[in-house]
Amino acid sequence: MKVATIGTGYVGLVTGACLADMGNEVICVDIVDHKVEMINQGRSPIYEEGMQEILKRNAQKNLKATTDLEMAIENSDISFICVGTPSDRDGGIDLRYIKSAARSIGKALASVDNHTVVVKSTVVPGTTENIIIPILEKNSGKHVGEFGVCMNPEFLKEGVAVDDFMNPDRIIIGQYDENSGNKLAELYKGFYCPILRTDLKTAEMIKYASNSFLATKVSFINEIGNICKRLGIDAYTVAEGMSLDYRISPNFLKAGLGWGGSCFPKDIKGLISYAKGIGYNPELLQTVLKVNRKQPEILLDIARKKLGSFDGKRVAVLGLAFKADTDDTRESQSFHVIRQLLNEKAEVVAYDPKAEENTKIEFPEIQYASTAEDALKEADIALILTEWEEFQNLNYEGMKNRIVIDGRDIVKNREGIEYEGLCW
Ligand code: NAD
Repeated sequence: MKVATIGTGYVGLVTGACLADMGNEVICVDIVDHKVEMINQGRSPIYEEGMQEILKRNAQKNLKATTDLEMAIENSDISFICVGTPSDRDGGIDLRYIKSAARSIGKALASVDNHTVVVKSTVVPGTTENIIIPILEKNSGKHVGEFGVCMNPEFLKEGVAVDDFMNPDRIIIGQYDENSGNKLAELYKGFYCPILRTDLKTAEMIKYASNSFLATKVSFINEIGNICKRLGIDAYTVAEGMSLDYRISPNFLKAGLGWGGSCFPKDIKGLISYAKGIGYNPELLQTVLKVNRKQPEILLDIARKKLGSFDGKRVAVLGLAFKADTDDTRESQSFHVIRQLLNEKAEVVAYDPKAEENTKIEFPEIQYASTAEDALKEADIALILTEWEEFQNLNYEGMKNRIVIDGRDIVKNREGIEYEGLCW
């Protein structure tokens, strides 16, 4: 099939590249020139396992990138809107990018027949029907039905996004009508997983409910972990015991510093804000958010108690990405920790195998080390904030004081150090 993806971030590029690798003709669109150039040269603008190889195989063959959205729509049967939907100041979602993309797609639809527009960006229930469709209709001069519309939420995890896209647990096809859904189902016919067809707003809600549930699970085990720590109980053994019950899976049951990233924080805040707007106060979700905000403070409290104060102390921050195997630092819990360390006049030296460049944008003033051991040199304390595998067995010999606070239960080599875990 001929496919266009609008936005070449984690979702758009993975969707476009994987669909191209499966034999579809794909045009990726972005407004940022250098991303488009890199994709056309077969180079990935993001770090994602397997992406480089897929781009090398498909660039300039099945996969082309452009800034010309109209051309992409004119030359495709189906297009995926994959632009960002960040939080606005009140925690609601900022629809600026998606509205702008919809206006451009609408204009192109004026001269294109049999095209289906698929919303893949995460949007609150009702957005596709009440906001995107009217924009497409206004700008195309056509009625929905003359073009198809679907809402197809994405569940990939950064770091393993290619594998998640190729081997999904499920595909949700929210459809405006049967024809629209059939077109998208046709594109996904090579996938072996359950496909659930729903209306548009149910598909939108499935995404929010899924992320809210996972975030709740993590905040739940963090709360249990915070209690366990006071009782001298290992929260990880508790989680292991819990997950022997077949109703409780072991996934997302690791106590620690909590969640960040481009999705959980904004999606939980987005659903809270949306629910309040329709007259419902979502107390559980607000507490889930509160527990998550507390975890970096608890870690800092533990470190502060060890040092007396952070003032003038050299603090090695190991891990900047919001989780391992990605360079993404959006809403990283590490950033909350660094911000507070700077407020308290610590000398911060940071290391991350992939996320240094993204962190420099936010914190140009801190020191960056090129290895974990370099960051540890002469440090008064080490804070381990991302679960990178290379942090399992570090050499702490160069530290001034070998105090290590582990926010992710990743440190295996605990010999010769004053080790303390966040919730264990
Ligand atoms: P991103 O910020 O990495 O990428 C968005 C891209 O869209 C950027 O490259 C930007 O330049 C481009 N863009 C903005 N306006 C455009 C326009 N008018 N035309 C063409 N390109 C435009 O975002 P992302 O992480 O890929 O997320 C996209 C959406 O998918 C969001 O709604 C997000 O919540 C959702 N989502 C993300 C993930 C994830 O793990 N990142 C997983 C599932 C769902």
